[in-house]
Amino acid sequence: MKILVTGGSGFIGSHTVVELQAAGHQPVIVDNLYNSNREVLAGLKNIIGQDVLFYDLDCTDESAMRELFKKEKFGGVIHFAAYKAVGESVEQPLKYYQNNIDSLLILLKVMREFGVGNFVFSSSCTVYGQPDTLPVTEDTPRQPATSPYGNTKVMCEDVIRDYVYSKPNLKAISLRYFNPIGAHPSAEIGELPSGVPSNLVPYLTQAAAGLRDKLVVFGDDYDTPDGTCIRDFIHVVDLAKAHVKAIELLDMQTDANYYDVFNVGTGNGNTVLELINTFEEANDVKLNYTTGPRRPGDVEKIWAQSDKANNVLGWKAEKSLTDSLRDAWRWQLALRQRSE
Ligand code: NAD
Repeated sequence: MKILVTGGSGFIGSHTVVELQAAGHQPVIVDNLYNSNREVLAGLKNIIGQDVLFYDLDCTDESAMRELFKKEKFGGVIHFAAYKAVGESVEQPLKYYQNNIDSLLILLKVMREFGVGNFVFSSSCTVYGQPDTLPVTEDTPRQPATSPYGNTKVMCEDVIRDYVYSKPNLKAISLRYFNPIGAHPSAEIGELPSGVPSNLVPYLTQAAAGLRDKLVVFGDDYDTPDGTCIRDFIHVVDLAKAHVKAIELLDMQTDANYYDVFNVGTGNGNTVLELINTFEEANDVKLNYTTGPRRPGDVEKIWAQSDKANNVLGWKAEKSLTDSLRDAWRWQLALRQRSE
């Protein structure tokens, strides 16, 4: 199937392009390079052995998207393109609502015009806030979002659900990611945040490489075994594979108007200190870190129950925390080599 991958040169999108190609599909990337760069395309070529079709386009440009759909006959769309910096979204909410909501609305509209009926959306466990019971299942009630970014995920899920229920001949899945980390084992692609990383693992690897000040662990007085937050860290390659399963399930689905949501996590929660210790052991690297106050907006603990994805999508996370942190470090070292 020819599949439009919006945001396909970004962190999760690029890994998904690799897995789509490996599964015999034809990924086509649209990205405006707001948070990625063309070097990703070279990395993809080294892994895949051929160029991936790439369009430098903005998903909020309706006429450009229409021209694209005229040119390429897509069987489905996986929509990653979004802004994702939680802190920035608090400072500049309109920027986030405009990009993340407009891109969705325009895609759905253009897909309808061109009769493209399979849609996978990047949602997030952020829609659960701090849940009352753990692990979270897809039936765990969503909570009011704590940031405009989080709210765009809640709103986009609702838009997709309401739209599918209006019977436009659209089959859609929202995948609620837990905490994606790691990199492709080849170290050809990985996470490359612009500026100071706000996510733990890219900050940690940059600090270990001497590019950042020492790592500060936000909060050590949470109600968890060692006082630090608990997250469900999932290897990005495992997460990428869930998208292949999702788009294939949609394609086989006979109900022309189908919508569902799936948690995509490992089912295990690890504290931040456990992650740091695992990183040090896996890579034989000593980290310089300290603990500081809690960061506003962080939930105390969350991890997934992914039985639904296991049973319905036929997907299961296969890689360990050690695998993720080895690959993340290998990627950081590869970046250093490239810049020398
Ligand atoms: P990323 O920033 O690496 O990738 C997103 C890509 O989309 C970037 O390459 C960016 O240039 C592009 N983009 C943004 N707006 C665009 C537009 N209007 N038109 C074209 N391209 C545009 O982010 P990621 O970590 O790969 O995340 C992908 C998706 O997954 C996002 O929707 C994000 O909100 C969601 N998500 C990410 C995480 C995470 O921790 N990384 C967790 C949950 C959900």
